[in-house]
Amino acid sequence: MTLNKSEVIALDSQYHAGVYGRLKICLVKGDGCRVWDSEGNEYLDCLAGIAVNNVGHCHPKVTEAICRQARTLMHCSNLYYIEPQARLAEKLVSLLPRPIERIFFCNSGTESVEAAMKLIRRASGKPGIIAAHNSFHGRTFGSLAVTGQEKYRKPFEPLVPGARFVPFGDIDSLTSAIDEEVGGIILEPIQGEGGIRTSTEDYLRAVREVCDDKGLYLAFDEVQTGMGRTGNFLACQSYGVIPDIVSMAKGLGGGFPIGAMAARSDVMAAFHPSDHASTFGGNPLACAAALAALNVLTEEGLMENARTLGAWALDQIREMQRRHPDLIEDVRGRGLMLGIEMASEDLAKKVFDHCMKERILVNRTAGKVIRLVPPLLIERQDLAKALHVVEEPLN
Ligand SMILES: *Cc1c(COP(=O)(O)O)cnc(C)c1O
Repeated sequence: MTLNKSEVIALDSQYHAGVYGRLKICLVKGDGCRVWDSEGNEYLDCLAGIAVNNVGHCHPKVTEAICRQARTLMHCSNLYYIEPQARLAEKLVSLLPRPIERIFFCNSGTESVEAAMKLIRRASGKPGIIAAHNSFHGRTFGSLAVTGQEKYRKPFEPLVPGARFVPFGDIDSLTSAIDEEVGGIILEPIQGEGGIRTSTEDYLRAVREVCDDKGLYLAFDEVQTGMGRTGNFLACQSYGVIPDIVSMAKGLGGGFPIGAMAARSDVMAAFHPSDHASTFGGNPLACAAALAALNVLTEEGLMENARTLGAWALDQIREMQRRHPDLIEDVRGRGLMLGIEMASEDLAKKVFDHCMKERILVNRTAGKVIRLVPPLLIERQDLAKALHVVEEPLN
């Protein structure tokens, strides 16, 4: 009893909240870097569920781990110990930079930011958090409060108080925003939703120094940049700057929903029993999926691929910019997190439409930025194909 595309669209239109501007595509299957729609069309996925399918779609090891765990124990309360969660925590800590070695599991990116915000408040006893203009940290009242984009915040105010926004990359503004009320700083090392805006090592180092100097907690939101995306497990490792707290989700579960907030032991110790909790957070099924996904990431050399292929792609895109200096305004990225800023929103729309027509899944963010965040196991010829298609409308 399979519905056809128009039947699915009709049902969705009738019953869904309608908060998504959906494309008229009904996906039914995925494998590696490819997905298929209900009409049998094949797409090259250079969006990876927005930086989620880092190990590709339906990786056999992840699928196998989920099936095995689903037959054994799907859920139990965090009142009990479970092996998948203990093993996932160990694996995750092995990938995180020292001295980050304590994990709290949750279910999404926004929850991992909420956990980070609560930890900053608990550890510092102060309500103020500095965040960056143009940032994106999620849609719940806490994470939305530190999201530096008016269009998302305004309709839902009042939000959690205490946020102060400063221009991303400007250390002087950040230093001036610090007062007695501020307990911490939250930043994406590379702004994702805000248009793939990279940091400089100097900036992140200076932020770290200011935090050390003033006794502030530094939280990095690595929900999008983490899990190998930029060529290291966390993007901050590429910059050589280690935060006190880090938020993760998206690619963590290999497509299965799971999030995590990690922190230095002495910082996490500020949480007392029952200060924070989650019914589903780190449940057996999610942890089995995430453990398998992290094993794939390390065993199959996906971070190395992200690093080398990403560097190659960035070169290609820079050459593209040299061929079309009036049409491409800027090119940014690290690893397989790439942004091509077009000269106008109309042009970005044109490029996006052409990609869809050629069945290459990409996304347009911050108005005129084409975002490519493909699975980390993508091969050079596929990425080359995608870049070729992106360039076609510019010729
Ligand atoms: C996607 C994203 C979030 C929100 O994650 P959800 O799982 O949608 O709640 C938070 N921070 C960053 C940097 C993101 O890219």
